[in-house]
Amino acid sequence: MKLQSENGIGRRRFLGTSGLTLLAASVSGIVCNVPSKDENKEIEVSFQTDGWKSIMEDAKKYRKIDAHNHVWTGSNASQVDESCEILGITKAACSIPGGKTVKDIRANNDIIIQAMNSHPKRILGQCYINPLFKKESLDEIDRCVDKGMVMLGELYDAVKINDPLYYPIVERCIKHKIPMMLHGVTTLGNWRPGYLPTNPPNSSVPEDFVEIANRYPEAMIICGHIGGGGNWEYMCRVLQKAPTLYLDTSGSVSDEGMIDMAVKYLGADRLLFATDMNYETGVGKIMWADLSESDRKKIFFENFNNLLRKAGNHAD
Ligand SMILES: [Zn+2]
Repeated sequence: MKLQSENGIGRRRFLGTSGLTLLAASVSGIVCNVPSKDENKEIEVSFQTDGWKSIMEDAKKYRKIDAHNHVWTGSNASQVDESCEILGITKAACSIPGGKTVKDIRANNDIIIQAMNSHPKRILGQCYINPLFKKESLDEIDRCVDKGMVMLGELYDAVKINDPLYYPIVERCIKHKIPMMLHGVTTLGNWRPGYLPTNPPNSSVPEDFVEIANRYPEAMIICGHIGGGGNWEYMCRVLQKAPTLYLDTSGSVSDEGMIDMAVKYLGADRLLFATDMNYETGVGKIMWADLSESDRKKIFFENFNNLLRKAGNHAD
């Protein structure tokens, strides 16, 4: 059976849950037939493009700042720039997490500085440090801020974020009025059968973020990627215990209800749009969450811009 005609074109607007699929569909105008409960008959489902703004155009109208992205080599900066342009991402905060020695870390941060200089309108710098290098880390934060970087990121799993080695790092960020974003995982509290935690032992779990955020409520600490894999429901339930924590929406996971639950538990003011290089998924999951216009704008742009504003690094 055919679904009822809407707007005189005989096709029903189909709302799905996969941002990636929908964004792709929106530009190609996919029409497909799916089985109905009534045997031998099909329902025609289409993604409207004619007479409607495409989903891509809808997404592009929102200003966006990506709070979690990466540039892996100097030349890769132009790919980041191009991807952001296509999806209407005004600016992207990028890092290269990793480096075994102080020299390696510094070289990686230098690539980010090059990317900031080659694409000054698009790329914001995130400074990576390893707290095990105590004095050198503090020196590197000062150097990176001096070069125009706007935050720390993506700090990784050398040390848990609630380890006392992080205290001077957090205090230095407070002094510079810059946010810090750290790779978050959900190894603990996972109740789904079949899940095998593979995260290194020093990975920061939600409880670790809560502890450091409650120790330093004036810090701007961001838990990285709700959609990084693992149990995002558990992440939301635990992170709500620290009212000053932020959570970025990146990661390749775009399960239905993920962003909605994060808003319910943390509030729209504490969510920061991000892609972690999953550009279409990153934008799609915010577009298809059940959000008010005001909350969508906060998550896409305003929340993170307000954090950057503290040190005068905001977009406008
Ligand atoms: Zn990560």
